[in-house]
Amino acid sequence: MTTDVRITPLDAWIAGKMGTAGGRVTREQINCYQLIRLNETISRARSLSPFYRKHLAGMGLNGLTRLEQIAEYPLTTAADVTAHALQMVCVSQSQINRVVTLNTSGTSGNPKRIYFSPFDQELTIDFFQCGMSTLVGPGDKALILLPGERPGSVGDLLLQALLRLGVLPTYYGLVENVPKAVLRMCQVKANCLVGVPVQVLAMARYWEKWGGSEWAPRCALLSTDHIPAAITRELKRIWNCEVYEHYGMTEMGLGGGLECAAHEGCHMREADLYFEIVDPVSAQPLPDGEYGEVVFTTLTRQGMPLIRYRTGDISRFIVNQCQCGSILRRLERVRSRKDGTVCFGEGWEFTIADLDEVLFALPEVTNFTAEVNYGEITKLKLVIVVLADGQPPDQPFALSALRQLPAIQAAEQAGKLMVEVEFVRNLTLSPAKRSIRVTGLAREGVGSAV
Ligand SMILES: [Zn+2]
Repeated sequence: MTTDVRITPLDAWIAGKMGTAGGRVTREQINCYQLIRLNETISRARSLSPFYRKHLAGMGLNGLTRLEQIAEYPLTTAADVTAHALQMVCVSQSQINRVVTLNTSGTSGNPKRIYFSPFDQELTIDFFQCGMSTLVGPGDKALILLPGERPGSVGDLLLQALLRLGVLPTYYGLVENVPKAVLRMCQVKANCLVGVPVQVLAMARYWEKWGGSEWAPRCALLSTDHIPAAITRELKRIWNCEVYEHYGMTEMGLGGGLECAAHEGCHMREADLYFEIVDPVSAQPLPDGEYGEVVFTTLTRQGMPLIRYRTGDISRFIVNQCQCGSILRRLERVRSRKDGTVCFGEGWEFTIADLDEVLFALPEVTNFTAEVNYGEITKLKLVIVVLADGQPPDQPFALSALRQLPAIQAAEQAGKLMVEVEFVRNLTLSPAKRSIRVTGLAREGVGSAV
């Protein structure tokens, strides 16, 4: 095992949580800690949450004697949260100080709400503080490019975490006007950016073309969305900066896992969350190393515990030990959402993650929208955003990039797919969630896999 990669600070963090501060913990000790916390979470949820009392009614009251037995418990879905969030809450309303409303793509139109207590938020700050120490230390300057207007929002909690670390944080918010964000980065001399992948990419592209500034960030943490390898590569090329990936979602208490300096998957927040990978169709647990849906259980959440929550993200555990020597479990970069696959039939399918890899590798590209219209001949329409006054790649160049995807090439050759590419120049960014829009009627065997 090489020792030149600094071990993730999360190892010492979890050791501290388990009362073995300063010392190293073994995998067995973590498993034992998680088993105790899982049993606590289940029994607390059953006694305090009307939803879980009913949801777990079929399960025995003896609790788990092994971690794997959690697989016998029913999964909790986004639809459950949409319909029963308040019945999942295990504290009184007065102990809830943050409610996050998430838009859902379901047809009910009802939003999904996640409730947090001050204790829950403190745990998130604590995780952020430890995680950020991977990238920055006292005296460094960080620019926060995440939503943070409200107390308890991700940007606000991150700001508090950075202050505790002795880092000088500047809150900026989501990037809408790219030149303004780049200017701010240079003004405050930010060593570190924390932001959404496409937004940080747009800043880097703008900086490269017009910036003329000698200031470049030393590192960046990308979060909140799928992180294309093409974006990480471009940021390294343009700024020569070290790019770290964070994996998380609101339901996880915002933070879920973070890369170490080896950059080979995210070390998971195992003090607060228990992760599983299950078959997305059968929901059966999968052996470590196989791709499946990420499922997690909160271990320390007070406000609204989630037990075996289905994330919809497809990934896998990395089985070999990390170069940094950590014993924490690692998750590979999430490669797709289980509901985000577009299929033309004949095994011709692709995801937005596939489009990301080929399109963000093109010069000038800062974003794109994709729309699939099913018909006798399916149409794929791409609107590619490039920098204002930028020189977009020409159509044939963009088309040949898209044909690197076998599904697109094969479907086009078979006369079943027509690809249309349009370019728009823009210096402002839309905050809309990125996905492939699907219209038209799918034929049998053709459509979006759900
Ligand atoms: Zn590591």
